[in-house]
Amino acid sequence: MAEGDTILRAKRRLGEALVGQAITVSAPSPRGRAAGIERLDGRTLTGVDAHGKHLLLDFGDLVLHSHLGMSGGWHVYERAERWRRPRSSAWAVLTGERAEAVEFGGPTLRVLPAGRVAIDPRLARLGPDILAPELDLDGIVARFRAADPSRTLGDSLLDQSLTAGIGNIFKSEACFAAKVDPWRLLGDASEAELRAVLEAAREQMLRAVTAGGRHRFAVYKHRGPCVRCRGRVLHRGQGDANRTTWWCPNCQV
Ligand SMILES: [Zn+2]
Repeated sequence: MAEGDTILRAKRRLGEALVGQAITVSAPSPRGRAAGIERLDGRTLTGVDAHGKHLLLDFGDLVLHSHLGMSGGWHVYERAERWRRPRSSAWAVLTGERAEAVEFGGPTLRVLPAGRVAIDPRLARLGPDILAPELDLDGIVARFRAADPSRTLGDSLLDQSLTAGIGNIFKSEACFAAKVDPWRLLGDASEAELRAVLEAAREQMLRAVTAGGRHRFAVYKHRGPCVRCRGRVLHRGQGDANRTTWWCPNCQV
């Protein structure tokens, strides 16, 4: 599943491979054609921006917006390289001078007028990016303070309107790293606990950006005793969406 770390990696890889080049755009799958992405063909990619789990590719007065959800992915290949998925399943193929970026699947792929990005309802509701170059930690903590106090901490970390970018993996990893119980109600969480969890989320996710697929999780889908205290690691669905949270009740208190 693509969380903010995956999107920041995609932003960097796409940026290095394609920014500043005239891009040939094609849509092998009907889904990409339905999104009208061929309107971008021949335009120059001027920048790539990430906000939480959203990726925005800037083509002048048009922007390609993607959200990968649980199943989507951006791959970057050398032009002669063999793809890891069938060409016919690609929603978008962006071909530059030496590399091509390919998008497969996900809930959102659409072309927006650049002037609409700032007022688009789905983008405007996003809170500050947990991986922004300058972290607005005070602002994010204030949003959690103002949120429904009866929600659990773990569930609220997934609320993209409080802070954007944290998904189900780093919800568990951040609470574990900060030694805070993900079932704590927001109203019972101290300022120090909120700050510790949010800082841990950012730190763990930035580590994952660097490590990529080699990043190892401490508690998410962990089998066997806790790596910190040898206590029993539990998992259970949390929040309205019943997303599974992994935690160690012995050392996360
Ligand atoms: Zn433990």
